[in-house]
Amino acid sequence: MANLTNKVALVTGGSRGIGAGIAKRLAADGASVAITYTKGLEAAASVVKEIERAGGKAMAIQADAADAKAVTAAVEKTVAAYGRLDVLVNNAGTAIPKPFQETTLEELDRVININFRGTLITTQAALKHMQDGGRIIMIGSCVGERMMTPGLVSYAATKGAVKMFTQGLSREVGARGITVNNIQPGPIDTELNPASGDWATPQIALTALNRYGHVEDIVAMVAFVAGPEAAYITGASLTVDGGTNA
Ligand code: NDP
Repeated sequence: MANLTNKVALVTGGSRGIGAGIAKRLAADGASVAITYTKGLEAAASVVKEIERAGGKAMAIQADAADAKAVTAAVEKTVAAYGRLDVLVNNAGTAIPKPFQETTLEELDRVININFRGTLITTQAALKHMQDGGRIIMIGSCVGERMMTPGLVSYAATKGAVKMFTQGLSREVGARGITVNNIQPGPIDTELNPASGDWATPQIALTALNRYGHVEDIVAMVAFVAGPEAAYITGASLTVDGGTNA
């Protein structure tokens, strides 16, 4: 029997990049999977189709992580469709790279609302339904812990906040056997952070392995943390960054 047979997972921002990889892997591991997205209806539909073609169950829900009502409704729709909730992956996130002093209030709100506020609200809604022994997994960032470059001040602040949210919440839900962990990627080749171009060169130089990572590198860690062998890991920030923070 696969690791997640009869389990239900919700992955925010699951239409592209790291979130799409996580959704496909959790489905391959046996879970029924709901994903959220904002604009990428076609991309979300193709993730669902790919999972279904492989014999899994999936659904896509439009829900902006910055919209409290929408993310709460996404949790409710997942539970209504699949009858339970075992795994939440708070993956939806964005960065608006620019010097802090030039960042507008609107840009600050966007980064905070998607990366941090959305994570809190989605988690609160999910906890109402989560089975004992469930898994709450954040996709933070290696810059939530250590900062080497300018231009990502508010982004790093939100990811640092996600790290402490993880630690705090682990203390409240441990009695139910629910684990709360924060996966901290380094540079991973996605549309948000492509492995080529001006922005990529300094990030590669900061890694110990002298290269970008792949979506699968993060997916593997999420699959492990979601599975039964990780039952004693909680409140942890697990860094998968090619040695960026070494
Ligand atoms: P991408 O931009 O490639 O993909 C983002 C995904 O999230 C898409 O499916 C997108 O779909 C969805 N999304 C974007 N905004 C929202 C929103 N407001 N509400 C719901 N869904 C949304 O990003 P990555 O895969 O690179 O990043 C995923 C996570 O990993 C983020 O939290 C990011 O901060 C983190 N991370 C990434 C790193 C990297 O190097 N790539 C490094 C460290 C951390 P749609 O467009 O339809 O909304």
